[in-house]
Amino acid sequence: MARPEEAVRLDSVSKIYDMGVVQVHALTGVELSIPAGDFVVFLGPSGSGKTTLMNIIGGLDSATTGRVFVHGRDVTALSQDDLTEYRRSDVGFIFQFFNLMPTLTARENVQLIADLVHSSEDAGALLESVGLGEYMDHFPSQLSGGEQQRVAIARALVKRPRLLLADEPTGNLDYETSREVLAVIRSMARENNATVIAVTHDESITEKGEMVVRLRSGRIVSVERKDD
Ligand code: ADP
Ligand code: MG
Repeated sequence: MARPEEAVRLDSVSKIYDMGVVQVHALTGVELSIPAGDFVVFLGPSGSGKTTLMNIIGGLDSATTGRVFVHGRDVTALSQDDLTEYRRSDVGFIFQFFNLMPTLTARENVQLIADLVHSSEDAGALLESVGLGEYMDHFPSQLSGGEQQRVAIARALVKRPRLLLADEPTGNLDYETSREVLAVIRSMARENNATVIAVTHDESITEKGEMVVRLRSGRIVSVERKDD
C-alpha cells in the first residue's frame, strides 16, 4: 500500500527558551510524522509544550534545533519573508479566545483575511456553511462564544489552508458547544482536505482524533493512530 502523503514531519525538534538565569526546555527531541488529512490531537497537561510545538509547526515560533517539514518543505530553513508568506497562505489558525476584531462584523472579520491571499473562498458562503448565515452582519459582541468560534473557523478556512492549527479551540466553551465546534472544525476540514492539529488538555476531545499525540514535560510519550 502506498504511504499516505505526509503533512508534517518533525525531526528531533527541541526548543529552549533562554531566560537568562534559567533555560526552559520546552521541547526535547520531538519526532513525529502526521499523515495528510488526519485530525490530530496534541494532549498533555499545562506546560507540557503543546502550544510551543504547534507554534513551531505554524511558523509562529522557531525550533532551537531540529527540522520541521510541512508538505515536504523545510519550514526551519525559510527566510523571514518566506516564513511570513507561509503563515499567511498555508496555515489557518484558531485560538482559544477567538481573537476576532471587535469593530468588524462576522463577514468583515472573514473578508479581512480573504483579502490577504491570492486565492480565497467566498466569505459569505463559508459563514453559511458554519451555520452563521443569519449572523453575518453581527459584531462579535452580539454573538455567543460558540458563534464567535465559528466565525474564527470560517476565518481560518477562507484562505484554503492545507493545515489548520487550533490551540485549545474549545477551552472557553461549555461542553455542548465544544462538541458542536469540534464537529464543525472536523467537517469543514474534511470538506477542504485540510489536516487539523488541535491542542487540548481535555481528554474528551481525544475521541475525535484519528491520531492522538501525548506530551509530557516537552517530550512525546505516546502516539496512537486509529486504523481506517
Ligand atoms: P502548553 O501549551 O502545553 O501549556 P507551552 O508550550 O505553552 O505548554 O509551554 C511549555 C513550557 O515552555 C512551559 O514551561 C512554559 O512556561 C515555557 N514557555 C512557553 N513559552 C515561553 C516563552 N515565550 N518564554 C519562556 N518560556 C516559555
Ligand atoms: Mg498551551
